Amino acid sequence: MWVETALVFLFGLLWGSFGNVVIHRLPLGLSVVRPRSRCPECEKMIGWYDNIPVLSWVFLRGRCRSCKSPISARYPFVELLTGLMFAAIYARFGFTWLTLEYLIFAWGLIVVSFIDLDHMILPDVFTLSGVVIGLLGAALNPERSFLSALTGVLMGGGFLWLIAYLYLVFRKEEGMGGGDIKLLAWIGAVLGWTSVPFVILASSVVGSVVGLTLAARSKAGLKSVIPFGPYLAAAALLYMLGGDSLGLWYIGLFLPASTSVN
Ligand SMILES: [Zn+2]
Repeated sequence: MWVETALVFLFGLLWGSFGNVVIHRLPLGLSVVRPRSRCPECEKMIGWYDNIPVLSWVFLRGRCRSCKSPISARYPFVELLTGLMFAAIYARFGFTWLTLEYLIFAWGLIVVSFIDLDHMILPDVFTLSGVVIGLLGAALNPERSFLSALTGVLMGGGFLWLIAYLYLVFRKEEGMGGGDIKLLAWIGAVLGWTSVPFVILASSVVGSVVGLTLAARSKAGLKSVIPFGPYLAAAALLYMLGGDSLGLWYIGLFLPASTSVN
């Protein structure tokens, strides 16, 4: 089990490395397959030996081999995050279809989170495909309930759509991006409807604390826009690893009878 988990971790590092390419190139409309990566400063092509996840960055001390310009610590961070997430999923769910679905889901969430941080967009190619793949997975995978996934899509998408609509009606401005709505629908499709209340609660609590802190420091105040996608994604990954117990605990706070029956 330890050897297998370590192999899944290495596999995750490689996917994290590919994730970095997608995060950088997809929003610019560039191919994610070709050409090979170059240093953005000196344009020199990066050799395979300088492209080994995490290790190359450490050995190069975070600088380009030829021009010595700094390479962001975010590259090894994304690789490490993906590796650890993959290992955690495998350790928790073993060699199952659920693991395969969760690996794809986690990789997608990590990629869209960083694209959202950089560009304030959540690409449809991820969120809408995620809804379709999530529903398809629920229909094919006997470990999952299709009804729960479908309810999750409607609840996740519907709830945030309602908030956005009310905000528009009362404040006459857009408060919630359409991308966030599609992201929560995707989360509902993969994790089922019980995840939706937890993800909304956890992401808004953490999002408000961080948002208010940032607003207090910046001149733009509360009007400054912060991407919400990373909070939704983090809450979803937490729920995924924490399991249904988190969702049932949360629902039990409001509807004690619904959980005390079993
Ligand atoms: Zn360079």
